Amino acid sequence: MEEFAKYVHLLPDVHGDAGEFAPPPQRPTIFWIGCSDARVSEARALPGKEIFVHRNIANQFNVTDPNALAVLAHAVSLSTVEEIMIVDHTNCGGVAACFQAADPNQPKPQLHWALWVWLTHLLHLAKSMVGQGERALIDENVRVQVKALRGVLPMLTSRKFKVTGHVFDIECQELQPVEV
Ligand SMILES: [Zn+2]
Repeated sequence: MEEFAKYVHLLPDVHGDAGEFAPPPQRPTIFWIGCSDARVSEARALPGKEIFVHRNIANQFNVTDPNALAVLAHAVSLSTVEEIMIVDHTNCGGVAACFQAADPNQPKPQLHWALWVWLTHLLHLAKSMVGQGERALIDENVRVQVKALRGVLPMLTSRKFKVTGHVFDIECQELQPVEV
């Protein structure tokens, strides 16, 4: 203990001004809602950008999901955020499962029940688009989430945001815009 007392004055004063030890505040310019897929990350798609992030299976934005709403509410409270991006990707497992499950000629994929609960809206969408192809479902999945988010935004903030939809092409490693 005596030994410790000799050196205690060298330690940072935790009761004093901690400014020089505090991390800088976050200053994200983009709020990214993307899929959990390990091959698709905001850091890979937009290197060098500071990004606030919400990711889940098949990048769903559901207005009854308190987690998504909480993250959105916080994102729009950050004064530096200007754009909200919904990003799906090629080879999305969640989309592929719903695409297959919607086809009566295909066996239903074996997924955990929690995943089917999570993907309920996407499966419903897939059933309304049978015959249009998997890429069309990926694009439409993005449009649906963008529209849901645009709908809820005025209830959370009076600020205006650019809300965009994209698909990250894993093969080309590029973000492709989706018209909404
Ligand atoms: Zn995915």
